Amino acid sequence: MSDYLRTGYLDVSDLEFPDEDIVKQHFVAVTECVQEIPCNPCVESCPVSAIKMDGINGIPHIDFEKCIGCGNCVAVCPGLAMFLVNIKEGKGRVSLPYEMLPLPNKGDTVNLLDREGKKVGIGTVIGIRQIEKDTTSSVITVEFDDTSLIKVVRNIEVVKNER
Ligand code: SF4
Ligand code: SF4
Repeated sequence: MSDYLRTGYLDVSDLEFPDEDIVKQHFVAVTECVQEIPCNPCVESCPVSAIKMDGINGIPHIDFEKCIGCGNCVAVCPGLAMFLVNIKEGKGRVSLPYEMLPLPNKGDTVNLLDREGKKVGIGTVIGIRQIEKDTTSSVITVEFDDTSLIKVVRNIEVVKNER
């Protein structure tokens, strides 16, 4: 367990992460919500009841076997603490909440950023779920060559607009 309360950010050792066989089957949610705060829209948004919390102040835990990777929890989390991960055809993919405007476009090249905002690679935008109401975030899906980065990439910076 990292000293995230001092540093302000998590690292991989803090995460509950799905087995690789699930990650290779479909998108699956991972949570980086570790603060005991009164909040549960992620639980309410899940169509398959895959998110459990021990009371309203609890920390969410995801049943990776149940999760269908719909992304609802990513869009509704006010703490921007939910992500989706997937490995397909040898490429890593992460879906992340995004609140900047303008939104990137499909095909844009982006810098992949870690939890500290440091650049860790280059990726391509392959999916955009636009904000649906003022309580949700847009959800951007990026793809990249280094599959190990699915545990690392948690933000993006648009560097090239293809439009
Ligand atoms: S991605 Fe969808 S199915 Fe999976 S935990 Fe989030 S809301 Fe539930
Ligand atoms: S909605 Fe986000 S901040 Fe709230 S409990 Fe769920 S993961 Fe944590």
